[in-house]
Amino acid sequence: MTTFANVERTCAVCGHTDEHTVLMSTSVFGAPDLDTRPPPLARLTLPMQIQCCPVCGYCAPNVSEALPEAAAEVARPEYQAQLRHPDFPYLANLFLCWSRIAEAAGRYAEAGWAAVRAAWACDDEGPARAGAAVACRERAVALFESARQRGQAFAHEPGAEEAILADLLRRSGRFAEADAVAQAGLAQNPPPTIARVLHYQRHLCQRRDTEAHTVDEAPEA
Ligand SMILES: [Zn+2]
Repeated sequence: MTTFANVERTCAVCGHTDEHTVLMSTSVFGAPDLDTRPPPLARLTLPMQIQCCPVCGYCAPNVSEALPEAAAEVARPEYQAQLRHPDFPYLANLFLCWSRIAEAAGRYAEAGWAAVRAAWACDDEGPARAGAAVACRERAVALFESARQRGQAFAHEPGAEEAILADLLRRSGRFAEADAVAQAGLAQNPPPTIARVLHYQRHLCQRRDTEAHTVDEAPEA
């Protein structure tokens, strides 16, 4: 069961107070996708993971808190254009705006995960937003690569970052790169579940499969 509540939050950028829906609890039935997207019911809580101030357009998981870089980023024309970008669904734009703020603050792992969530919002809109989903995944790959260059972890077990990157690349149709990164993950002697997922990614790359798959679909070694 998923429970949520409407709470008043004051925007940390412009001071406007408004009602936002927050998630109180949820549950999962089944296995996550290969990119860690949870199964239902948690899967359906994506809109509750991001808030947007209706006055200034500040987007964040909690609009009553702001990084020091937030106000300047929200004021940029590029940010405001992203907020209303016609090529992306509304929910994806909110995550992409938050991703821009996290990137401006040098928080590349958080910025990358925000872009992954934007991709999920695009996935939920079906084939018409397939191109938008790829654009979000390519942004996530670039941000995760920046995170690695700066020693910011975006996943914790050996091979887990490679498993995430392999899925983002494969789902963007970049099969050779996805396969190479899956091999790099396997070279790190990952735990059995991650090894299984990395082998499965290699198999999916061979089949040139760009679809979403769950961890349960990965065959036992
Ligand atoms: Zn505001």
